[in-house]
Amino acid sequence: MPELPDVEIFKAYLNRTSLHQTIGSVTVSDVRILEGISAKKLRSRLARKQILGSDRHGKLLFARVDGAHLVMHFGMTGELQYFKDEGKTPQYARVLIGFTNGFHLAYDSRRKLGRIRLVDEMDRYVAKEGLGPDALASDFDTFKGALESRQGYLKLALMDQHVIAGIGNIYSDEILFWAGIHPKHKTNDLDQKAWKRLFRAAQQVLHMAIRKRADPDRLPKSYLIPHRGRGGECPKCGAELRTVKIGGRRAYYCPNDQAR
Ligand SMILES: [Zn+2]
Repeated sequence: MPELPDVEIFKAYLNRTSLHQTIGSVTVSDVRILEGISAKKLRSRLARKQILGSDRHGKLLFARVDGAHLVMHFGMTGELQYFKDEGKTPQYARVLIGFTNGFHLAYDSRRKLGRIRLVDEMDRYVAKEGLGPDALASDFDTFKGALESRQGYLKLALMDQHVIAGIGNIYSDEILFWAGIHPKHKTNDLDQKAWKRLFRAAQQVLHMAIRKRADPDRLPKSYLIPHRGRGGECPKCGAELRTVKIGGRRAYYCPNDQAR
């Protein structure tokens, strides 16, 4: 499931491929992905316009188009594909933008649950959705203040997009691993030193994941992610990793390095 680092990579990809090209056609092959706008309206709003830039908040990507923002949420399996030959259109292209230079940009998602909409103001949309501050853009006080506001398990707070935006199941495990904190630790039970460790871990993990193109295979072997899975061992101490179910998700952790 795309998390902040994945969406940051999509953002760089969009910028590299699709900026400043005139949109010729917009084909919506699955209208269920559209929110608050019809396919016809989307076509008329985008036609003959250009994508001028992009922004990201949490797991949302915003493409700036002539005074509006095309908002993309990638759901479970969404991604972007840029290509020339229409015959190469991905099988699950839900929305296909054709540029007048002959290239195409597809929003592709094997499983649904993604969302696309057009909004006039990004900040107002983020506020209306009740999203927390972006995990990577937050300074220490913002990060701590946001997480502290939610009672309960720290891992649930980290994954709650209304608390802090961008982190999901995979990267919350990695952040807790580097902070040395058990996933069932409570938000009201951390001292200042632990908050500092958690903040530093979040920054380091997210930056590293972006540098490695959000590709788990490229992450350092000292990371937890390459060792997730049955029989995986802690890259620090060699102990067998344990799992615990939190909020319906399976958390991986090291029983030594993240003792309760
Ligand atoms: Zn360990």
